[in-house]
Amino acid sequence: MILSFGLLFSVILAGMELVEIFGVPFTPLKGKYDQRKAEVFRNLSLVADLKKERLELWLKERLGDSKVLSGILRTGLAEWRAMDMEKTAGVHSEEFLKAEEKTLQYLSGKLSEKLAIIKDSYGIYEKIKVADHQSGIVIASAFQEDMGTVVYRPDLLRLALESKDSAAMDIGKDPVTGETLLYLYRSIQPAAGLKQGEDEGPLGILAANININDIVGPILFTGEGLGGSGEVVLVDQDAKIITRLKHPLPGGTMAVPLQYQIKAQPAVKAARGEEEGIIEDKDYRGEPVLAAYRHIHLSQDVAIGMVVKQDQAEVFAQMRRTILHSSVIGLAGVILAMGLTFLIAGRLSRPIMELSRAAQRVEAGDLTARADVRTSGEVGLLADSFNSMVQKIQDWQGELEGLNRQLTAKNKELGDIVYVVSHDLRSPLVNVQGFSKELEAANRKLHAILQREDFPLEIKKEIAPLLEEDMPEALQFILRSVSKMDSLLMGLLRLSRLGRQALGIKELDMNKLLAKASGDFEFRLKESGTTLTVDALPPCKGDEMQLNMVFSNLLDNALKYLDKGRKGVIRVSGKQEEGQVRYCVEDNGIGISPEHQAKVFEIFHRLNPGDSPGEGLGLTIVRKVLESHGGRIWVESAKGAGSKFYISLPE
Ligand code: ADP
Repeated sequence: MILSFGLLFSVILAGMELVEIFGVPFTPLKGKYDQRKAEVFRNLSLVADLKKERLELWLKERLGDSKVLSGILRTGLAEWRAMDMEKTAGVHSEEFLKAEEKTLQYLSGKLSEKLAIIKDSYGIYEKIKVADHQSGIVIASAFQEDMGTVVYRPDLLRLALESKDSAAMDIGKDPVTGETLLYLYRSIQPAAGLKQGEDEGPLGILAANININDIVGPILFTGEGLGGSGEVVLVDQDAKIITRLKHPLPGGTMAVPLQYQIKAQPAVKAARGEEEGIIEDKDYRGEPVLAAYRHIHLSQDVAIGMVVKQDQAEVFAQMRRTILHSSVIGLAGVILAMGLTFLIAGRLSRPIMELSRAAQRVEAGDLTARADVRTSGEVGLLADSFNSMVQKIQDWQGELEGLNRQLTAKNKELGDIVYVVSHDLRSPLVNVQGFSKELEAANRKLHAILQREDFPLEIKKEIAPLLEEDMPEALQFILRSVSKMDSLLMGLLRLSRLGRQALGIKELDMNKLLAKASGDFEFRLKESGTTLTVDALPPCKGDEMQLNMVFSNLLDNALKYLDKGRKGVIRVSGKQEEGQVRYCVEDNGIGISPEHQAKVFEIFHRLNPGDSPGEGLGLTIVRKVLESHGGRIWVESAKGAGSKFYISLPE
């Protein structure tokens, strides 16, 4: 019981802990786990929004840069363009061309110088060049070696020309270094006022690029507030990574930007850009993460995806530690509580156990048993009461034993008296009988004398009635009473002998016993036309002779008290039940009315003394035999409907 209480206690504790951590399922009750998750999601969304905003702002600044730059470069480029056009228009002498070429070189040198200064002052551009918008050939650059080369992204060049007043941007790989670059192309248009003709067109193209990893990366990663495992991942529209990843791939290799495509959901969703939001899923390492995903447009057709994520392991680390700690503490508490409960219960239950042990001993008959309980309180009081109760019972038992001894002695005395009296009374009775017979003989002799001729007639007349009527009648009465008294004394003697006999208890085959007992009644059964059926009977333990007497008496009564008006039917049956055997002798005789049923077992009690012979001793003997066997006899009967005499005996 204590153990189950302990277990229940710990289950409740664990349940409470679980509810506190995980809340109640299907209810609005959220646990710490969900709270923490929501908190981290909020934080991730906040950071993602912030970074998206910062990136967009930064991109806007770059667009602004390009506008400023095209303004700065416009004049120099217009000069160069004019000279170039002059050079290509018409036929010129070699000297002129050489001079022109020099001027062009000078102008492009000046433009390049400007670009070098601009590059240095911005500090974020890896390259800034100006190219011819038709051929894409670089005409000015901060780096001498770029001169005369063709710009790397003709597609962007076209886009830039199409969008005129804006710039075209895209992410791509540097063909030489392999670094990820942000390409920014913008057409440089002639100043509005200076415009000479409708089909004048642009003056050239500004082509700049920025190293994403060196420039954009740091912008995104400053002041993250994302813990140790936090990461911002940028992907292009095909979910290929743009910046280097923080962690190696599951294989251990580092993913190559613009080559490695992420299959994990957060990045895929960020790249697709259908929606922005939060997600709980695995990242590119297969590690469970919490992530916020955003979509950022670089230009009308070009966009990138951004994932801001944090490992769940880190997010819930504190909680897991707390769970572990509180589990350990809880377990220790439960063990301690159980230990204490055991101790307390031990103190409580030990006296109760002691009490129950003593009670068991008393139940087994040992009245010397006492509960050795020395605690105060209710249990102590109970033990005291128990002990004094047992003491009282022991005293009573002593008294009872004394009384019983006296009773047995008295009983024996009484039995002896009955025996002696019934035995000794028989000899005077025999005397009375003997002398009565003598008196009878004397009477006969007197009668003979009276018949003689010479007997005086007058005297004869007087004596004759005395001798012939009064005396024989008196003698008849005396003899009948003597005979009755004799049979009563014989019955008493039998009864008292029964009490003196030792019992020879053994297992008895009752079928055999009944066969023998009923054999004695064969003649009477046949004579009275009575049927006797004896069922198969279970065996029992008892004294063969005495039980024979029992069944003989019962069968005798059944026959004796049959109803003259109908054919007699007697049946003997028996069955076993709960350590007992029960036999029944049933007849369809005159029956016994309920008020007489108890009386028939009393000594000398007869219901209709005149109707049939008997002394009213049979059932008394039967009862006595059963009592000495530890058994019982009772009757179920109704007047006029027959009787059932039941006997129960230990099996
Ligand atoms: P007895 O048969 O010698 O009179 P019992 O002690 O055997 O003495 O019976 C006491 C009385 O119980 C009987 O006188 C009789 O009135 C009644 N009795 C006993 N057995 C039956 C029976 N089977 N049916 C009816 N009455 C019975």
